[in-house]
Amino acid sequence: MAGGILDIDLSALARNWRALAKASGSAEAGAVVKADAYGLGMDRVAPVLAAAGARRFFVAIAEEGRRLRSVLGPGPEIAVFSGHMAGDSDAIRDAALIPMLNSPEQLRRHREALPGAPYGVQLDTGMSRLGVAPADWPEMRKAAETAVLVMSHLACSDEPDNPRNAEQLKQFRQMTDGLDVPKSFSATGGILLGADYHFDVTRPGIGLYGGAPYADAEPVVTLSLPLIQTRELAPGDWVGYGASFVADRPTRIATVSGGYADGLLRAMTGRGVLWHGDTPCPLAGRVSMDLMGVDVTDVPEPPEHLEILGRRQGVDMLADAAGTIGYEILTSLGPRYARRYHGG
Ligand SMILES: *Cc1c(COP(=O)(O)O)cnc(C)c1O
Repeated sequence: MAGGILDIDLSALARNWRALAKASGSAEAGAVVKADAYGLGMDRVAPVLAAAGARRFFVAIAEEGRRLRSVLGPGPEIAVFSGHMAGDSDAIRDAALIPMLNSPEQLRRHREALPGAPYGVQLDTGMSRLGVAPADWPEMRKAAETAVLVMSHLACSDEPDNPRNAEQLKQFRQMTDGLDVPKSFSATGGILLGADYHFDVTRPGIGLYGGAPYADAEPVVTLSLPLIQTRELAPGDWVGYGASFVADRPTRIATVSGGYADGLLRAMTGRGVLWHGDTPCPLAGRVSMDLMGVDVTDVPEPPEHLEILGRRQGVDMLADAAGTIGYEILTSLGPRYARRYHGG
């Protein structure tokens, strides 16, 4: 069975990075490539970002950093959000990673395992997720004076009017006041909040890959699903598991290759739409593991493929149909698609 085709526009990716670097003002823009570059393939994405000018990369865990180092070679800085976890020392040393230390325990581990090795420090300014808690800060503050980067992360930056943004900013300023090291506070959303939020280094992720909250992002992915067969339904005929779609008119149903095992979330049943050019083709029946039924009655001639991500429907629109966010759509894109890379 032929699967879907995922087209990835590396030139659009590079333009998104340049635009977010410009929007970062005097701050240096890094690039977040965790989770295999948000599902698009770190091996292909990271070199394009490096060629566009990115010199600092961020990943979630040390093993990702090890792989990224083999992709990028020596030179670019690779920072690891999860810091120095037990078992990470070899990867940090071998791949020259910068762990963003999250606790006094991680600081001790780092100094014992790799004396003199560089590190950053991540602060918790309210999110209660990762980072040094305010209570532990006095103990870490001295070490932060020789960090290569001190950072924190905003929880609500996709909502510009949310007062938590200013609260976190105030907390970050208080904690880092007088600390003469490079500072980083903003992901995509924070960049768009303006210069107060930029500090020295920004960390765009989702905006590079074409997702909200960067409304001006160029789309990077197109996903086309091949039709396997079509059939004509009479009123009263039904489609798929649970018979949740019942035809109320003479209806042509196409069965396309692609389902929830490919990251096309089952939650979009009843709401999702595929596209043939400018013609919307609604899902008919439940999304199953490898297949989806699509109502193509309004398309004169059934095409070879239907688009589920592309010009007419971006990752955020598809995410809406599934009750989720663009990040989850991208990072769920499954391994069965043929990935085709363009430009760069
Ligand atoms: C994922 C992540 C980013 C990137 O966020 P986007 O919203 O994708 O731009 C930046 N910083 C941290 C700590 C992250 O976890």
